[in-house]
Amino acid sequence: MAVAQSQRWAVIGGGLLGMTLAKRLSEGNQKVTLFEAASQLGGLASAWNLGEVVWDRHYHVTLLSDTALRSLLSDLGLEKEMQWVETRTGFYTSGKLYSMSNTLEFLRFPPLGLLDKFRLGATIFYASRVKDWKRLEKVAVADWLRRWSGDYTTEKIWLPLLRAKLGDNYRKTSAAFIWATIARMYAARRSGLKKEMFGYVPGGYARIIKRFGEALAEDGVATRLRQAIKRITSSGDRPIIELEDGTRETFDRIVLTVPAPVAARLCPELSAEEKSRLEGVQYQGIICASLLLRKPLANFYVTNITETWVPFTAVIEMSALVDRAQFGGNSLVYLPKYLPPDDPAFSRSDEEIEEEFLGALERMYPEFERRDLLCFRLSRVRHVFPIPTLNYSERLPPMVSSMPGVYLVNSSQILNGTLNVNETVQLAERTAGTLMASPRHAGVAVKVRREQEEEYGKNEALGQPVPGS
Ligand SMILES: Cc1cc2nc3c(=O)[nH]c(=O)nc-3n(C[C@H](O)[C@H](O)[C@H](O)COP(=O)(O)OP(=O)(O)OC[C@H]3O[C@@H](n4cnc5c(N)ncnc54)[C@H](O)[C@@H]3O)c2cc1C
Repeated sequence: MAVAQSQRWAVIGGGLLGMTLAKRLSEGNQKVTLFEAASQLGGLASAWNLGEVVWDRHYHVTLLSDTALRSLLSDLGLEKEMQWVETRTGFYTSGKLYSMSNTLEFLRFPPLGLLDKFRLGATIFYASRVKDWKRLEKVAVADWLRRWSGDYTTEKIWLPLLRAKLGDNYRKTSAAFIWATIARMYAARRSGLKKEMFGYVPGGYARIIKRFGEALAEDGVATRLRQAIKRITSSGDRPIIELEDGTRETFDRIVLTVPAPVAARLCPELSAEEKSRLEGVQYQGIICASLLLRKPLANFYVTNITETWVPFTAVIEMSALVDRAQFGGNSLVYLPKYLPPDDPAFSRSDEEIEEEFLGALERMYPEFERRDLLCFRLSRVRHVFPIPTLNYSERLPPMVSSMPGVYLVNSSQILNGTLNVNETVQLAERTAGTLMASPRHAGVAVKVRREQEEEYGKNEALGQPVPGS
């Protein structure tokens, strides 16, 4: 969707959202500069080294149903190389590791009685059939699960899983969270002949991001790495970027793709209402360990954990999905721990966390030996995903700000989904067209707000005029 006039756009944030936006804007004949604070593109999906091995800093899989992502990969010439694998799922509960990879294993799962299992299965099936997710936004997730699965299963299975991902914030989380999670897994099964097929591109996201960066350069996007934006202000009707080194640059339009509270900090001229809405989005962060091991642990792609003494949320054995040849014949395991952004654990030393995580692995997997550990690295990110709190859609941060030509597009606007690259790409695709097709001033606020309303359903907050627009 092209507009007649080519304008100068700055996209802030070189994650997959910023990269996809930059690509679509430049294809729409716009002159785009992409600013990224880090030394490489990719954000949460960027890669790093574990000894000789280069792989994603955080675990990533693609589902067969991730059509927006697969179409982007196709544009980049990588989709045809995707490898699709049927994986197994583990469950660690009451000090034991169980396989929960098919219906038979589910029926045999000892911690739950037959009636509990029936209710659990019915809960998942019912959630997969719900169409009106907005209704679920009004109900606390724990209450909803208690109603459908019963007290015992909620205490024994659901609450430990919710606490692992959301901490105490599970109390503020709506049932839309569990609905979105189940809907994603069901979509995967539907398109995967009832099997859970997960996919990856050989070379991982390192390869995807490299190819994406080349495609951006071919499209004429100017990428500027190690360029942390300090502030965005305006002069007359033009937005201005101020870099950490004090350099200032004026653009016609600026799109920020950074997390909502970061956007509020970068744009001091936003109204008090806009700032409070952005700052009001509650994020979960993560400490995520990557371990390169000589031997596999248990060959489950995901092992869910309900034991509260385990210091991480799950065990993700990437080499149960990805050919071990990609890791020099070794196994790659991730141990994620989700935390609120201000959790004191973020300042614990690497050594302390490593000791704690390895100790827990020894207890969980008697075969695991420390001498098989080749490499251990920790990633810490304070803003990973926004928590879908009760009635979240009524406090949705606006995409069009009151600052002329400044737009805010980020994961807080993924409403009826979980955070994943497919949703991220979809958000970018929707937004790029809408922003380009709209005039730069007054009208754009109204038009984009109307489209947000149409998509998410009208609500009071979106219907209010953006102050100053
Ligand atoms: C542990 C984990 C597991 C995941 N698993 C999966 C999975 O299995 N499948 C899947 O599809 N998705 C998965 N995801 C989600 C996926 O990574 C995200 O959907 C996607 O990467 C989000 O991209 P983004 O551009 O919105 O955000 P980000 O990647 O966070 O990008 C924001 C960018 O802005 C930059 N930035 C911040 N401040 C500034 C500034 N002041 N100036 C300039 N730049 C700035 C940051 O450096 C960053 O690069 C996972 C994520 C995590 C963390």
